Amino acid sequence: MKPTLAYVQAKFNEFNAKIFKGKLSPLPIRIGVSRTRLGGVSFKRRKVGTKTEFYNFKLTISQRFDLPEHEVEDTIIHEMIHYYILSSQLHDTSPHGKLFRQLMNHINQQFGRHLSISHRSTGEELQNDTHKKEHFVCVSGLADGRTGITVSAKTRIFQMRRDLPRYFRLQKMTWYWTFNPFFNRYPHSISPRIYLIEEAELEKYLTDAKELEYDGNCFKVKKQ
Ligand SMILES: [Zn+2]
Repeated sequence: MKPTLAYVQAKFNEFNAKIFKGKLSPLPIRIGVSRTRLGGVSFKRRKVGTKTEFYNFKLTISQRFDLPEHEVEDTIIHEMIHYYILSSQLHDTSPHGKLFRQLMNHINQQFGRHLSISHRSTGEELQNDTHKKEHFVCVSGLADGRTGITVSAKTRIFQMRRDLPRYFRLQKMTWYWTFNPFFNRYPHSISPRIYLIEEAELEKYLTDAKELEYDGNCFKVKKQ
């Protein structure tokens, strides 16, 4: 999806209420055309006595990238963390310093997000990553109706098949073998973890995948 202004505004309000407890003041939001950065918060600084104060914030989200919705959302939240730190007049150790990482890790844990400190990792490089690599992907139907994926390290697929249902409440698991570059963006997991994804979004990337079946001993490509 490519974000529109109405979409980003709605998401800003949603995440402000849900994640930031409504602490963020509204700010001008703009849809940009950057090819290198998905998002950014701009601001000015001024001296107030001996202190530096940040003010005049603007949030920009680029519409140049066609990304899965959860990545667009993660980008918006990432920028909202910057905005939260700056508008609270807090000084971090660096742009993605200690404070940023603390907040980010907290949000990832509390809300099942996959924010990263790199603007790049949700940006153009991902979209341009067309390198064909082998992936073993487990698609999980969670008990609450959501869909998640795990890209398993090849050496761990048996443990993963066994352990995922022990760590998560799952309704079903389907395994695929695929070379689709979409999955390059996920780490090849060696321990049970699940990345949430929209089912409809995921379907697009599984059209050329081979479904696998487990016969109690090994995985085989399922006969259609
Ligand atoms: Zn950042």
